[in-house]
Amino acid sequence: MHQSPDEMTVLEMLGSTNLRQSTPEDYRILREIVNSFERYSGVGNDIQLTLAEHAANELIMCEKTREYAKGIMDPSKFVLHTVRKSPLFQILSKMPKGAALKVHDTSMCSLRSVIELTYRENLWVCTTQDGCRVEAFRFAKEKPKDPMEKLRELRGERNLRKYLLVRFSMYPLASFTTNAHAWRHMMGIFDLLDGLLQYAPLWGDYYYNALKEFYADGVRTVLPQLYCLDGSLLPKRQTVQIYKDTLEQFKKENPGFIDSKLIYAPIRHVQPEVKEFPGFVVGFDLVGQEDVGHPLSQFAEELLKLPDHINFYFHAGQTNWYGSHVDQNLLDAIVLGTKRISHGYTITKHPVLMRLAKYLNIALEVCPVSNQVLQLGSDYRNHPAATLIAENVPMVIASGNPAFWRAAPLSHDFYMAFLGIAPMNADLKFLKRTAKNSIRYSSLKDEGKAEAMGKWKRKWDQWVANIAAQKENQENK
Ligand SMILES: [Zn+2]
Repeated sequence: MHQSPDEMTVLEMLGSTNLRQSTPEDYRILREIVNSFERYSGVGNDIQLTLAEHAANELIMCEKTREYAKGIMDPSKFVLHTVRKSPLFQILSKMPKGAALKVHDTSMCSLRSVIELTYRENLWVCTTQDGCRVEAFRFAKEKPKDPMEKLRELRGERNLRKYLLVRFSMYPLASFTTNAHAWRHMMGIFDLLDGLLQYAPLWGDYYYNALKEFYADGVRTVLPQLYCLDGSLLPKRQTVQIYKDTLEQFKKENPGFIDSKLIYAPIRHVQPEVKEFPGFVVGFDLVGQEDVGHPLSQFAEELLKLPDHINFYFHAGQTNWYGSHVDQNLLDAIVLGTKRISHGYTITKHPVLMRLAKYLNIALEVCPVSNQVLQLGSDYRNHPAATLIAENVPMVIASGNPAFWRAAPLSHDFYMAFLGIAPMNADLKFLKRTAKNSIRYSSLKDEGKAEAMGKWKRKWDQWVANIAAQKENQENK
């Protein structure tokens, strides 16, 4: 909560010195002192690299510097769909990133696997503009609209796949001019996917697939209301059961996998199902565009009635409006005892809240790509998380709805944070700290965290060894 004594000494020294009378030597020494405070206060500077990590770091920083130089010449180079080809992205995509602490369930799976689901039996589709625009999906025995196969024949399989890829995503990104516009489009995708994904026999498969694509923890779910072939609705309790059964099966088949927990996140309403399934449904959140939803303070009384084993993981401060009710949600989230804050985009405008987050060990879930796609800020170099990094506020790198922007579960967000938000000299120490944070700030219990850290570390050491070997190969060429 306060400056370190050494920093105080420097402040006093600066205050009592006439800097204009410094000798060049004084200036150099003072510069080094102040610079070292900057260097050692940021995220990752508590990490000591091993010899192998040092070797790997050299290669990583070499690639980073190269990409940085390209960016300085032309910042427009850092575009979502082109970075996949970069050597730095390749390295980061293989990096064991720990856990994904913020992702919404119906936008987890890659669109490729979502499109595969449209081949299932009994799927009907509602279209407008003579089959040119898909409006809704529905599984049913009886004919509600046109069968999917008919549409596939009409438009041609390849064309339809291409069309669905665009229809299910936020592309072209440039077509959104405001945050509200981008949100409307995103909610439209959620609505369209409902009829497809909320078909009860399919939900388990979808979730299984998502687990395969993710190394997941802390998935946020709105607990979709699943439906059956005859149109009847499944009780929400059974939705959770499907999650549990699917997860158990996945864990049995993938012993290296850590775990997955649910955060029940209804769209700005408190609902009683949250109290069932302790141990699996670990937390509670309220989602939806904060700007148009109700402020957290309005739910305070109800929220405080929930038993204290249900942790809070609130969305807050996902806005550009300083002082608005969304911005105020940050204050409420902290005072209500949240464990993490999703986004917290405005927190750097509140030094007191930022210090509280640090003091109370509340991690911010920073989602660079989501913020760009939803139009909070177009240039990563202006992202507020730069201040969190500089101030060493607890943070994790997360994604949100990666499928909608056709991004990898976490790699794009790591890439943008590493290259565009963190300082130029942020290196493997920064990457290691943020990956470790994802386990440290996860909802796992202490024993679970220790086990997860062990599993992560084995993968991390392997990854580091691979890069170090790659570097040696390059040198021997
Ligand atoms: Zn979110």
